[in-house]
Amino acid sequence: ESKGRGPNVPCVCTPDMMEAIHRRSAIADVVRRAAECGGFTVKLQPVWSESERRFVAAEALCRLDDDELGSIPPDEFIPVAEQIGVISDVTRFMLNRACAFIRTYRDAHPDSTFRGVSVNFSAVEFIQDDLAESVLAVVERHGIPASCLRVEVTESAIIANPDAVRAFMEDMHAHGVRFYLDDFGTGYSNISMMLELPFDVVKLDKSILWSATEDEHLTEFFGLLTAGFGAMGSQILSEGVETQEQRGFLNECGCSLMQGYLFSRPLSPDEAAAVIAASEEEAR
Ligand code: C2E
Ligand code: MG
Ligand code: MG
Ligand code: MG
Repeated sequence: ESKGRGPNVPCVCTPDMMEAIHRRSAIADVVRRAAECGGFTVKLQPVWSESERRFVAAEALCRLDDDELGSIPPDEFIPVAEQIGVISDVTRFMLNRACAFIRTYRDAHPDSTFRGVSVNFSAVEFIQDDLAESVLAVVERHGIPASCLRVEVTESAIIANPDAVRAFMEDMHAHGVRFYLDDFGTGYSNISMMLELPFDVVKLDKSILWSATEDEHLTEFFGLLTAGFGAMGSQILSEGVETQEQRGFLNECGCSLMQGYLFSRPLSPDEAAAVIAASEEEAR
């Protein structure tokens, strides 16, 4: 029985609030339907290696389009998928698409050095205790090396569930799956905790790059950060590279892995395969 507002206390909702509530419930319906029938689409954003002068990997990004609501951004529908309990359907869909892409690409380009595709995982997923087995089963079904799959985890996911994330990472890492620490610099950076975990790549959030190129104190710090992670055995990848100036700055800092609109937008799997293959051809 609910306490709080008595029957005579009106609910103070502004029209804006009402609209937000309606939109959220409309999105929840669309997400629920998409989760049932695999109604998402996958985009792949290639990752550029400056030292190798070609695309070496890609990130899988989820898309959701609706006839009435149009294209719903992931920053809006992913939290809803988490709240209504269907995020594991999203992840399974993305994993299958990512593994299928890896399989197709490797089959078509047997001498390729393309390293793999990363999939974003949400904090709430780590409570599922057969998570590692179910992910590895997908990898196996597609017949790809586990080392081609990369899992992106955010700091906030780790902080929400440190023991479960650590156990999952150790399990998966033992099977060859790689890990990327996503959105580094936006959370509560518990550096010692991050350094204990086996991250192959630390992805700096785009806000870090954008402020580092504007503030000279941060410029120096950025270089030190890159060197520091390098010394700890992780590579730095900078997100949100949009300009040649930013690219030049990253070169000065020794940060070779870059992702951003300057190199490529997120693409359909066919387009991504063509762009990656062309870059490999050109680098030969
Ligand atoms: P993220 O994982 O940090 O992904 C990077 C975001 O930056 C993507 O936005 C990408 O399109 C965007 N981006 C890439 N290059 C540039 C650039 O040069 N400039 C700018 N302004 N943006 C750039 P997107 O696709 O809208 O995804 C937003 C967030 O939604 C992701 O951030 C991730 O947290 C979440 N997300 C997307 N797909 C999934 C998914 O399949 N599962 C989960 N759990 N989360 C997802
Ligand atoms: Mg990501
Ligand atoms: Mg990110
Ligand atoms: Mg982000």
